[in-house]
Amino acid sequence: MHLCSDYHLHPQGHRLQPYTQELLQPWANHARQVGLRDIALTDHDRYHAGVDFDEIDRLRETNPDLKIRAGIELDNDPIHSAAGRAWAEKNWDRLDFVLGSVHFLRGDWAFDHAGEEAEFARRDIDEVYADYYARIRTMAGSGLVDCMAHLDLVKIFGFRPAADLSDLLATVLSEIKRADLAMELSTAGWRKPVGELYPSDEIIRAARATGIPFTTASDAHSHVQQGENFAPLAEKMTALGINEVVIFDRHERAVVRL
Ligand SMILES: [Zn+2]
Ligand SMILES: [Zn+2]
Repeated sequence: MHLCSDYHLHPQGHRLQPYTQELLQPWANHARQVGLRDIALTDHDRYHAGVDFDEIDRLRETNPDLKIRAGIELDNDPIHSAAGRAWAEKNWDRLDFVLGSVHFLRGDWAFDHAGEEAEFARRDIDEVYADYYARIRTMAGSGLVDCMAHLDLVKIFGFRPAADLSDLLATVLSEIKRADLAMELSTAGWRKPVGELYPSDEIIRAARATGIPFTTASDAHSHVQQGENFAPLAEKMTALGINEVVIFDRHERAVVRL
């Protein structure tokens, strides 16, 4: 089984870099090189000013063998997310795909940044998880996203709750199902301290049972990370009985059998 779609890519990386062919073409080249056929550019909404739909159209014209989707990753950034949402609403018809994610917890804490283990160690982990999933539910119900990104990102440094979260997770999954969203399978977790796919096998099994469809994603912040670890991801999907993924065209979801 070969996975051909990567629906979580950050051409701008971690800073504002306006879209140009010089910035974007290496992404198309490397995608092709690793056997991808369908990619979604999903920069963080705090860098929405760099996203240029005309430049994406130009990239499509010079790379007609690739499906190139215009996307954005909306999160709950306390400073920038209001402007990001307004931008996504204004440009909804030119966007193919919107990811929803949670990167900030109580106290405007950017919990997934390198070095935040110390803060995890100080906090009540059950409370951290409860706070995280409450925010995930809000994002899922926002009406502005097509797919939830790295659903259990809160495990990034390997801190685990003592409490049983199955009821909480069931509520989260039913909210995602109610909103008719997809969920990504993200290999990014394999390069983080936790060393696990996002989300866990347990969540994937429950999502599958709930009828939530999946995208495949690397969360690449460099063009060479595209499709990273897609071979082991394909193996895991086979083991979990997943033989299809979804793709998006102007928010219209289609199933691809693998
Ligand atoms: Zn993210
Ligand atoms: Zn991302």
